[in-house]
Amino acid sequence: MSTNGQLLNFINGQWQRSSASQYLDVTNPATARVMTRVPLSPAAEVDAAVQAGLQAFTEWRRTPVTDRIQYLFKLKNLLEEHLDEIARTITNECGKTYAESVGEMRRGIENVEVACGAPSLMQGYNNEDIARGIDEHMIRQPLGVVAAITPFNFPGMIPLWFMPYALATGNCFILKPSEKVPMTSQKLFELLEAAGFPPGVVQLVNGSKETVDALLDHPGIKAISFVGSTPVAKYVYSRAAANGKRAQCQGGAKNPVVIMPDADMDAATRIMADSAFGCAGQRCLAASVAITVGEARDIFTEQIADAAASRKVGYGLDEGVEMGPVITRESKARIESLITKGEQEGARVLVDGRGKQVSGYEEGFWVFPTVLDSVNPEGEIARTEIFGPVLSLMHARDIDEAIELVNKRPYGNMACIFTSSGATARQFRYEVDAGNVGINIGVAAPMAFFPFSGWNESFFGDLHAQGRHGVEFYTQTKVVVERWPREWSRKF
Ligand code: NAD
Repeated sequence: MSTNGQLLNFINGQWQRSSASQYLDVTNPATARVMTRVPLSPAAEVDAAVQAGLQAFTEWRRTPVTDRIQYLFKLKNLLEEHLDEIARTITNECGKTYAESVGEMRRGIENVEVACGAPSLMQGYNNEDIARGIDEHMIRQPLGVVAAITPFNFPGMIPLWFMPYALATGNCFILKPSEKVPMTSQKLFELLEAAGFPPGVVQLVNGSKETVDALLDHPGIKAISFVGSTPVAKYVYSRAAANGKRAQCQGGAKNPVVIMPDADMDAATRIMADSAFGCAGQRCLAASVAITVGEARDIFTEQIADAAASRKVGYGLDEGVEMGPVITRESKARIESLITKGEQEGARVLVDGRGKQVSGYEEGFWVFPTVLDSVNPEGEIARTEIFGPVLSLMHARDIDEAIELVNKRPYGNMACIFTSSGATARQFRYEVDAGNVGINIGVAAPMAFFPFSGWNESFFGDLHAQGRHGVEFYTQTKVVVERWPREWSRKF
């Protein structure tokens, strides 16, 4: 929803124009055209949303969970009906291909479906006779007003990692989407409005750092969910905790994939090309380092270089396009300079995606698939999240050396292996220091009924997004111990 080319906030059931003194352009990364402008909402608008949320909470938490999830069933149907329109919006503001945008929304909708199981998911447990005639119960109650702060790379899916669970469990929810891709959230909130959630139950406040700080400092907010880069995740986690809030903060990644010589090399190459270059490498689960073991080196290197060079890059709504642009001009410059840095550290540029253009879209932010060979494991490139379509190759003598290279990184979002040996796969699964593991899988993205399980510098907190973890994060346990002696009843 926008007026005069400016996006609106959705507060207390109303689309509201922000009083922000600053607006940012929202740009289509394939054309470099400005599509609209997003307000950097001030603290007063965060406060208005929190007050509306607190007011709505009293009634929303009393609404039976079976009634609360009816709104989510409606939302699921609306998301299905408007899938094409939302996917086009994602492609236009985020750059990924139409198929990738549809895929992203499918994973988002999956979370709405899983959250509809809240009546069972939020059940507690109990014991009779913990002492003679005394019973004990654990029940789950909602926290109150909670907020999520989300990144640019999955504008449709990531808000849905949190929102459905928060709402189904009886919380009021505020979203602060990425200022780079705020249009998808506008569409999402138009559907939330159509689903008929009571005013104040689900709200949208646009902005960037100042708006985030206002959320982190507001005493009315009980919990913060964050997804973004590691330095900001750390900052959000510590500031939320210092203010006594519950926090779950997902950070950046540098995901290694080990290619064993006994792997099906054609399948591994095809899957790895999608994993490294899909979404232009702007995925927290993108494979960004391939570690070949022994004889896998020559064949995989040759095949992946061919796959990279032949990938069709272009505007994501055009037919046959396999990879879109990166998000901003600054991001393109940063990725290109990191490729140069890799070269300076001794890597060989097998396929060079720098300085390219797409005909008809000359102004777009293009970085083509890039393959760097023999990347120095001790160098900056081996440790830095490039967040672009750049695959680094490293080589190891055996599985032990490969696992050592995997476990050297500070991140722990994902690690994968391609092999036909169960014993090798088991050793990898057992020893690897990562929270999401793929075996003969390129992007090990957990289904909505499993936690999205980053470790180390990729995650700060305890309970992760999605499924049961989401339900636990958004509820607090209350334990009741009770005694009803028959003889006492007679007294009253
Ligand atoms: P980002 O950290 O720049 O921004 C994320 C959010 O934080 C945005 O809403 C932004 O407005 C806000 N923000 C930015 N700087 C801030 C600051 N200084 N203070 C307070 N708030 C601030 O991340 P991005 O560039 O939008 O997204 C890409 C990053 O997200 C990558 O590092 C990627 O790996 C990561 N990511 C991680 C996961 C995961 O599951 N671990 C998933 C998707 C993306």
